[in-house]
Amino acid sequence: MSESNQKSERKKSAPKIVAEKNEEAMIGGIIEGSPDSIGVAVVRLACGCRKMAAINKEGEAASKVIMYRDSASSICDLCKEDNGAFSRVTEQFIHWDGEPPTEAEQKRIEAKIFGTYGNA
Ligand SMILES: [Zn+2]
Repeated sequence: MSESNQKSERKKSAPKIVAEKNEEAMIGGIIEGSPDSIGVAVVRLACGCRKMAAINKEGEAASKVIMYRDSASSICDLCKEDNGAFSRVTEQFIHWDGEPPTEAEQKRIEAKIFGTYGNA
């Protein structure tokens, strides 16, 4: 009878953006290549391209910023020109690798990371 309780993963708090399957693959690769990283900053652009970078616990980039476009060999022409301008950003979040830091710490890191992205 208790089996129905198993899937109680409905979260009532603020909706949290989570990585999509194809993003996860990319994120996994980035984390693997960046031993110091505690997560990956993910920026989704309206044109369909993605910007990602590993971050360390200081809230600094722990890898190069990687841009890609799902199921395409390269990013779109717009992004080639402006490097994924901030005006096309639709969503941005940090995918934490493993246990995320405290809420305050998360906020601090997000502000640091996405603050610097603003002037791309
Ligand atoms: Zn693009």
